[in-house]
Amino acid sequence: MTESPHISIIIPVYNEEAVIDELFRQTMSAMNLLDTSFEVICVDDGSQDKSLEKLLAYHRTDKRFKVVSLSRNFGHQAAVLSGLSLAKGEYIGMMDGDLQDPPEMFASFYNKLREGFDVVYGVRKNRKEGVGKKMAYWLYYRLLNRMADTKIPLDSGDFCMVSRRVLDQMLDMPEQSLYLRGIRAWVGFPQLGLDYERAERFAGEPKYTFKELFQLAYNGIFSFSNLPVRLMRRLGYLTIIGSTLYGLKILMSYFLYQTAPPGFTTLALALIFFSGVQLISIGVLGEYVYRTYNESRKRPLFIIKEKHL
Ligand code: UDP
Ligand code: MG
Repeated sequence: MTESPHISIIIPVYNEEAVIDELFRQTMSAMNLLDTSFEVICVDDGSQDKSLEKLLAYHRTDKRFKVVSLSRNFGHQAAVLSGLSLAKGEYIGMMDGDLQDPPEMFASFYNKLREGFDVVYGVRKNRKEGVGKKMAYWLYYRLLNRMADTKIPLDSGDFCMVSRRVLDQMLDMPEQSLYLRGIRAWVGFPQLGLDYERAERFAGEPKYTFKELFQLAYNGIFSFSNLPVRLMRRLGYLTIIGSTLYGLKILMSYFLYQTAPPGFTTLALALIFFSGVQLISIGVLGEYVYRTYNESRKRPLFIIKEKHL
């Protein structure tokens, strides 16, 4: 039995063969500087390219560099979670596998954790991404921050390091609609954000599809806010107030000027408008029903195929 490492770093990897040499080099040299025992767990999230082979080749040269592979592509959040469930360290860090999160930051995270913080996360000061994506992120995080009951810090992703007690709490919350940065905020304990420059990905294309990004965004909103369902009720109130006012206006003009309300157009418009409102509301309800179903089904979030620990 070898002793548990002091620090564990979790890195999800999906079709990143072009990045892996540099990922190994930068991560290991950043961690070596910390002067304590550590393990790096790379989770191969069902890559179709040579990622797994390359990771395993590095594992053979340095056993602190560990590799887990999943039975298929389960998505970024599930891949991170699978790595977290295997981490042995007292302090646990997570970062993306495309080197957008600089591994040198773990030194600052680690120092702050030793000063008594339980969660230290990176706050993205500068994104080197397209204008559209930048704006969408900016808007989304501000919206989420206003909506969510838990204060999820602005512009922070999954790049962070947490203490063992926080990780154990996070692993104790097996939610199907995973939103790790939300769960991390929800857990509490002293938390601190540190600014960093989010680099461009080192090589290759983004692996998140547009649809998956939206899914993640939805998970953030539905799992940490009940605003969608509250909005339905508010729409209902607004409708009642609006139609009452309109009814009063019709009655007044009837008694004062003996004019009848315009018939067909008003009716048709009202009908179409409220059908729309009702359909949206049913859609929101449906989303809750589906999410409840999904939680109750309790499928595992990932399946591990191989472990090289
Ligand atoms: N990733 C993963 N599974 C996926 C999609 C992405 O493990 O299904 C990994 C990917 O290899 C990278 C990290 O998650 O290390 C972030 O992905 P990406 O860079 O595409 O996301 P973005 O930076 O655009 O948010
Ligand atoms: Mg990336």
